[in-house]
Amino acid sequence: MDGAVIPPTKLESASCHGGKATMQASARAAGKSGMLDKLAMDYPQGPHDQPQSMCPAFGSLRVGLRMRRVATILSGSACCVYGLTFTSHFYGARRSVGYVPFDSETLVTGQLFEDIRKAVRETARPDDYDAVVIINLCVPTASGVPLDLLPKEIDGVRIIGIDVPGFGVPTHAEAKDVLAGAMLKYARGEAERGAVARPRGPIAEGKRVSLIGELFPADPPGVAALLAPMGLSLAPGMPAREWRDLYGALDCTVAAAVHPFYTATIREFVAAGRPIVGSAPVGLDGTADWLDAIGKAADIGGAAIDSAKAKILPAIKGVLASNQVSARMVVSGYEGSELLVARILIEAGATIPYVGTALPRTEWSNADREWLEARGTHVQYRASLEQDVGAMREVKPDLAVGTTPLVQAAKEAGIPAVYFTNMVSARPLFGVAGAASLAAIVVAQTAGRERFSRMIDFFAPLQESAAC
Ligand code: SF4
Repeated sequence: MDGAVIPPTKLESASCHGGKATMQASARAAGKSGMLDKLAMDYPQGPHDQPQSMCPAFGSLRVGLRMRRVATILSGSACCVYGLTFTSHFYGARRSVGYVPFDSETLVTGQLFEDIRKAVRETARPDDYDAVVIINLCVPTASGVPLDLLPKEIDGVRIIGIDVPGFGVPTHAEAKDVLAGAMLKYARGEAERGAVARPRGPIAEGKRVSLIGELFPADPPGVAALLAPMGLSLAPGMPAREWRDLYGALDCTVAAAVHPFYTATIREFVAAGRPIVGSAPVGLDGTADWLDAIGKAADIGGAAIDSAKAKILPAIKGVLASNQVSARMVVSGYEGSELLVARILIEAGATIPYVGTALPRTEWSNADREWLEARGTHVQYRASLEQDVGAMREVKPDLAVGTTPLVQAAKEAGIPAVYFTNMVSARPLFGVAGAASLAAIVVAQTAGRERFSRMIDFFAPLQESAAC
């Protein structure tokens, strides 16, 4: 098949709000079965098998836009591209988003593929870019637009074509992995074939750890300080910020899956022979266990591991003791760090009967799940909004941490609530800094409970008269 596509029968009425079966059937008929099967294997679906938040492709777009010397182009319906472009600039992209528009005619005749090929050729300028990323959204994917037929490289500029349909990738978090994994695979192939560029800046000697996950900027330096007593330093993390950092990430001694859902990325580290360590340095127990696991995977002696723990654990203990939380909470979100956040809060004194995450269960969060379950917390993977709201109504917490619609439902019920992304993404999570920052926000937010109750009482008569 050379650019010819399946006619968009019924596709124009399909979207993230419906038509999933039609889209999937069309994509399979158009030759995309292998891609869909791989997505289903990497990102197994559950009750939350349809986007309940932003378009999943935003995750891939964000990873591309955050990289130096990488151009990112979308192929999809204009309304989807408008939303994705708006969201990326809302989150401060400060980069142009490329777009190859289509209509029914260019889709049916295969002209869209030719337009994409032309756009990629014109964009692949080696003076400006190391790589060009082209992302098929729902309709071009369902129509079988064959990005795998694009050249793999033009004048030394790598061409990365990926399908990121809402009917195949459940969350935007996993879509980050789709692009990060595709890039790491490409870079691993280059490194296996010969010499590659060094990462920019000085490279630490000795053994290095690559952190997997999009992290708050203060977290990597904090983790580097935790590792230093073991003679370990940080390699570039994933998702990478520049193409040459991909080689630096692969050149690590250990890959740390601090965000546990990067399945495709982890597969590339494994293929490169790197051991993977799950969980993360959160709170007291989490940090102690993580340092043990990292030290062991990097073949560090027990004395050096003990020395690293002795240096940091008393400080974390002190911070938790002086930031005690006395609150009953529910925690839910779609970032993939929900279990880690709950661990810190429980160590700070919170009671958390329910943690919901839109991400799937993987072996890299097993330690966190077991730790939480041992303390009576129900952990719901692939949690739907309905499950999160149901748990919030049942638990009646002092504070709900969750997605925007959950926060809205909580506030309507007079329950203080805070948006997970704002709470977590804008704060450190690891080591001493993480323990201090999360507990502090809970103390501040739960103070508003009585005010919420007064508001509910105040507006109750109005609601009753409106219902009459
Ligand atoms: S590309 Fe995103 S916004 Fe567009 S239909 Fe698919 S999931 Fe929805």
